[in-house]
Amino acid sequence: MRCKMQRSITTDLQNLFSYAFIERVPYHFIVPKKNNYLELAISERHNCCLSCNNNFITTFKNDTNVFITKDKLAKQESIYQTLGLEWNKPNKGENYIYRQNGFCQECFAKEYSKLPAQQEVYKMAKDIFDADIALINDAKELMTETIKKWLSGIETLDDVKNLELNTYLDIRNYLLNLCSNDFSINELLTNYEYDITNKIALLKGKLTLLEQDKLNLFVQIDNSVYESLSDELYNEYTVLMPTENSTGYFYYNFSISVDKINLFLEQERVGNVFELINEVGFSDIWVEWFLEYVTTLNK
Ligand SMILES: [Zn+2]
Repeated sequence: MRCKMQRSITTDLQNLFSYAFIERVPYHFIVPKKNNYLELAISERHNCCLSCNNNFITTFKNDTNVFITKDKLAKQESIYQTLGLEWNKPNKGENYIYRQNGFCQECFAKEYSKLPAQQEVYKMAKDIFDADIALINDAKELMTETIKKWLSGIETLDDVKNLELNTYLDIRNYLLNLCSNDFSINELLTNYEYDITNKIALLKGKLTLLEQDKLNLFVQIDNSVYESLSDELYNEYTVLMPTENSTGYFYYNFSISVDKINLFLEQERVGNVFELINEVGFSDIWVEWFLEYVTTLNK
């Protein structure tokens, strides 16, 4: 009973948002073949901003060579050319600087109004996803507040005895019931549902009007996330692993499937207060607060 249920609406939403906008390749184990891959020593990625021309460097912790597909290497050549850099095709095992272009965070904000109108799709989807996550974080805060408020209202040991909270499960059920009946938690959910329903309808309408299967969009990528040097799969051979101190975001241009965006939009969301509480998860610290509080009443 104490462990969080395995199935989580929020985890599913997170996975689908990543599936639509971030992780574009599945895990597949293969040993890279010479005719499709080239192995290189890559310790840095240089993200070059197309607007300010600054280089944002991510360092990798890979201590062995990484395998890049021939397709991806051809793309590297065109990125080097776009950046006005001399291209020398690397040989097997050579040190190589992996480059990407796009926008840094600051320039993305500045250039936003000049980007094609369809870029709005990403902003709208990200707003929806941010609201999904904020709901859980806000609910957790409200549940904590609700429990603290209830505790501070208990004045005597008799008050507690009347509640018949004799076991862990009694306390847990009582606290969960308290939260599910709390006005502010229910109001939070009602506001979220209203907001998210409108946002999803607006984005679905926009996608229908665009009448496209794929959209070229700039997408925010966390610099600390791994990157595969194959466009079809990722595995131990193809992945660049950023070091722990990698921070910030960069905006890459990707071709995004509208079907995948729709999967994210149509995915089940939190629909009632019990689901919401389940998503937040029960925190044993709340039981500890209660037990500690009762001790102070004993004195
Ligand atoms: Zn920039």
